Amino acid sequence: MKKILVTGALGQIGTELVMKMREIYGNDNVIATDLRKPEGNNVVESGPFELLDVTDGARMKEIAKEYEVDTLIHLAALLSATAEAKPMLAWNINMGGLVNALETAKEFNCKFFTPSSIGAFGPSTPKKNTPQDTIQRPTTMYGVNKVSGELLCDYYFHKFGVDTRGVRFPGLISYVAPPGGGTTDYAVDIFYEALKNKKYTSYIAEGTCMDMMYMSDAVQAIIDLMEADASKLKHRNAFNITAMSFEPSEIAAEIKKHIPEFEMDYDVDPMRQGIADTWPDSIDPTAAKEEWGFKAEFDLAKMTADMLQKLKEKGI
Ligand code: NAD
Repeated sequence: MKKILVTGALGQIGTELVMKMREIYGNDNVIATDLRKPEGNNVVESGPFELLDVTDGARMKEIAKEYEVDTLIHLAALLSATAEAKPMLAWNINMGGLVNALETAKEFNCKFFTPSSIGAFGPSTPKKNTPQDTIQRPTTMYGVNKVSGELLCDYYFHKFGVDTRGVRFPGLISYVAPPGGGTTDYAVDIFYEALKNKKYTSYIAEGTCMDMMYMSDAVQAIIDLMEADASKLKHRNAFNITAMSFEPSEIAAEIKKHIPEFEMDYDVDPMRQGIADTWPDSIDPTAAKEEWGFKAEFDLAKMTADMLQKLKEKGI
């Protein structure tokens, strides 16, 4: 990777991925793009930044041409809860943006990455240790977008030879940029509330297990997959990856080890709980481990300790 274009670069993932890639590949070689250009933002200030709405395919190609990009990391999307609230907008941004990004990659011969999600599974998928290759009949707009996206990326690889790669991310936990409207956001909110108010009301019900991962592991996974030897990849779009699986009371108990007064209760949100109920309890990342050496450094205990420390350093 030498000249990397990133869409949705100011989101939860992009904010950390762009900074890490600028460290590795050089500030000028990572071109960040998003809908807005906030002043004083690290991503905006530390290297090239362009305004780009991913539904504008012509503009995307212009930027790719201007910077002679050879890698496209497509992150711009509406997340699960927002997509369920605005399904038509989600279809237009998630599918329209993806096809524009794939067309750009095809025209400029770019390596291509876009994330899928545990949301690409549905109620008829095996819930425990969900295999890499299994039933994918999601019942949410986000899930429909993610499965369609996986298929479209495979199509561009087989039909046009575009080097498309992807992972199915679990819920991502981070302290730099806030999450953007997903079903697993509770696992980030809980840390802020634990530090500020010593209590948290979970909108996800007791007993609902979901896969999660700390952001540093997620960023490293993107870099490792993009650097992996293509001849070793049997799967492409998209690899199951996960670092931990827990339900709300388990993360609460872990936080209590650091903040003994912390208490959690529940006020379940039917929309987000409805989405969570269709997702796996835990997915099997064996294919990612075997084909490109995926590994995660952070489990629940290590992640909790680091989150609390980093948020305290930020003055939360
Ligand atoms: P986010 O919501 O934090 O960020 C998305 C970014 O895309 C935002 O900065 C937003 O301004 C931008 N955006 C929205 N519409 C746009 C448009 N029309 N044109 C250009 N930019 C636009 O999302 P994220 O968490 O960083 O997720 C990035 C990708 O990873 C998405 O495809 C998402 O589905 C996937 N993913 C995320 C998670 C997670 O837990 N964060 C889990 C699984 C998959």
